[in-house]
Amino acid sequence: MILVLKQNPDKEKLQSLIALLAEQGFSTNLSEGTEHTILGIIGDTSKIDPDSFSNNEIVESVKRISEPYKMANRKMHPMDTVINLNGINIGEGFFSVIAGPCSVESEEQIVEIAKSVKKSGAKLLRGGAFKPRTSPYSFQGLQADGIKLLLEAKKETGLPIVTEIMNLNHIDMFADVDIIQVGARNMQNFDLLKELGKCSKPILLKRGLANTIEEFLMSAEYIMAGGNKNVILCERGIRTFETMTRNTLDISAIPLLKKISHLPVIVDPSHASGISSLVPSLSKASIAAGADGLIIEVHNNPAKALSDGAQSLNPAQFDVLMADIKRRVEFEGKTL
Ligand code: PEP
Ligand code: MN
Repeated sequence: MILVLKQNPDKEKLQSLIALLAEQGFSTNLSEGTEHTILGIIGDTSKIDPDSFSNNEIVESVKRISEPYKMANRKMHPMDTVINLNGINIGEGFFSVIAGPCSVESEEQIVEIAKSVKKSGAKLLRGGAFKPRTSPYSFQGLQADGIKLLLEAKKETGLPIVTEIMNLNHIDMFADVDIIQVGARNMQNFDLLKELGKCSKPILLKRGLANTIEEFLMSAEYIMAGGNKNVILCERGIRTFETMTRNTLDISAIPLLKKISHLPVIVDPSHASGISSLVPSLSKASIAAGADGLIIEVHNNPAKALSDGAQSLNPAQFDVLMADIKRRVEFEGKTL
């Protein structure tokens, strides 16, 4: 349920309303926009009588939210969420490109690719240290050492780092990571999501391979309900009957998520297609569909990559794509 408040509500009256709701066992979420202030009531509001607010001087109107996701819901928070990471903005009006290899493989590899993607215009560096591989016999990532090497690359280039967490017991190792990624396979690892809700770092939440948009937003809700509002949604392709591509990029998810949620939406064209030659087209389609950014796999030498080489661009291909991205982002009136 949301309470649309009158303009510039009296602060004391607002505090006593929040306290009254807390006494009744509800938590609240205050969203102060330029035109309206919205107070979201979180909990089982089915027993609240909307008329009980009719005498409250600061309440203009009362609306029930029927969707199960509340904090991720745009009705609760009409303004777009823009996450600021040391001067880099992620969200509506901005466009952020995260690039780097699927896996961190060595210090030389990650530092070299970090310098290269930075030169081409990427604002953040990606690289997997803990790798969720389908086969237990495939390269599992350098794990804790991989995070150390990412931090080395960050020191060399200044690029903030994005890397995936697979186990909630590893959270201490991510203390210096800038954005923690939850991969598609862990989108519904609810214990992990709850743990990430307790930290304040931005969480890049990838959509599960076979999850609906509502389930995706409910996973964001898990993190937000724990107190961490810094969630970035990532569409990375879903399983369909098609076998020619690794996954099918759900382009409709981009404008739909932007419409029903206020959270930033980025796209991963690499995992969505599994084919490097498709990455530029899917990147451009994502920009046109309203995405707030891209996460792209770029490897020093894709033919020798220890994971996901087939979908990785080489540095020269990424450089050409970035020039094109810059033009298109400008056309959309966004800041790269
Ligand atoms: C990754 O980003 O390398 C990854 C494993 O992605 P996803 O969880 O989308 O498969
Ligand atoms: Mn990968």
